[in-house]
Amino acid sequence: MNLRKWQALYYSLIVLGMVLFIIAILVDERLTVIFGFAGLASAIGGFILQFIVWKCPHCEKRLPTTGTLGMDHCPYCGNNLF
Ligand SMILES: [Zn+2]
Repeated sequence: MNLRKWQALYYSLIVLGMVLFIIAILVDERLTVIFGFAGLASAIGGFILQFIVWKCPHCEKRLPTTGTLGMDHCPYCGNNLF
């Protein structure tokens, strides 16, 4: 799996976590806990995955987590990321 797919996966998990949180607010009280925990687990999983995989495949330096849209070269070594 390349870096672009890992990035799509962890962003999806974080967004899914946020959506589940919104659902948790809107649903019946008994389901709030279930959706809340599912959202929390999904978002935390996404952040952990980002922490593990979001680094340059060439120099192994951790990449910035903001302003990465359209970034295709490592800001440290200049090599192609994808
Ligand atoms: Zn690099």
